[in-house]
Parts: sequence; C-alpha cells; structure tokens
Amino acid sequence: MKQIAAIYPGSFDPVTNGHLDLIHRGCKLFDRLIVAIACNPDKGDPLFSLDERKEMLKAMTADLDNVTVDAFEGLLMTYCIEKNANAVLRGIRAVSDYEFELQMALMNRKIEPRVETVFMMPAEKYSYLSSRIVREIASFGGPLTGLVPDLVEEHLRRRIESKRAATTEIPTK
Ligand code: ADP
Repeated sequence: MKQIAAIYPGSFDPVTNGHLDLIHRGCKLFDRLIVAIACNPDKGDPLFSLDERKEMLKAMTADLDNVTVDAFEGLLMTYCIEKNANAVLRGIRAVSDYEFELQMALMNRKIEPRVETVFMMPAEKYSYLSSRIVREIASFGGPLTGLVPDLVEEHLRRRIESKRAATTEIPTK
C-alpha cells in the first residue's frame, strides 16, 4: 500500500489550539505528518524565534508517534520532494481563507503535480482563531484560556512582559 506523508507548513508564531486540532486530525489520516515551520524573511520579525516555536510544537506533539517537527526555507514544493512527501495539509477556517489557499494550492500543483494539497476544517470553536489574534490578545493582557495550550500561554506572558520592560526602561546617558 502507498504510504502518505504530508507536510503541514505555517509560521506557528505561536502554535494555537487551532493548529493542534488540525495536527490531531491530520495524523489520523496520513502515515507521516511533518509540521514544518516556514522561515520566511519577508514576513517581518516573528514574536518567537525559530527554536522557540520548534520547542513549543515539539512539546505539544510529543505524544503523537507519526508527527515530527521541522523547519524549511525556500519553496515548499522543493521541501516536499526533499522529504518524500506526497501531500500538503492546510487549514480552512472561513471563506476568507479560501481565495489565498486556492491560489497557493494551484500554484504549488503547477510547480509540482505529484504533491496534492489537502484542506481540513478545524472544530467550529477554533474557526476564528489565528496566531495573529492570539499575539494581539496577549499584548493587551487579555484572556487566552482555550486558545493556546498552557505552556504557550506562559511563554506568551513572559515574552510580552519582557518586551514591555524593555520599552519602559529609562535610557541611561
Ligand atoms: P500562515 O502564516 O500561513 O497564516 P499559520 O501558522 O497561521 O501560517 O497557519 C498555518 C496553517 O494552519 C494554515 O493553513 C492556516 O490556515 C492553518 N490554521 C491556522 N489557524 C488555524 C485554525 N484556527 N484552524 C484551522 N487551521 C488553522
């Protein structure tokens, strides 16, 4: 039987319960699932370093035998071939995700027709959840319960506190 290995690419800055919902669904469907952090210098400064994002993802997926965490630079299709992956997993939260995701999936198919993009929907309660929203709520000290795992919430609180301390420091002459 053909083995299906899938790549789940994203920024994961930080990983949310929405991402984890998709990872849990994906690992039941595929033989192997590689969660791959995209290192895209065009995307501006991330809140968490690559290593921090990797560590959080690894901790949250440690109990899933067929899931590994990695990072990649450059074209996703090149990375898929390098990893012998035949599928890409992407999440669709709302209609607003669809247009961008369709464009990406069709372009990726043009670049590499051997790789299929598979879309999955998260549980409804995560359909409004994104890393950007989580970062925003955290920056204003809002409640993060149910949006991210406890470990990620802790990291967020500490990062926001240290950022705040750095900006309120009185400059020395
Ligand atoms: P990007 O930088 O492309 O937005 P993300 O890390 O935010 O990367 O997301 C990676 C993938 O996870 C994308 O396919 C995105 O649609 C999906 N995703 C993000 N949040 C959720 C969620 N709450 N539910 C389902 N899929 C999600």
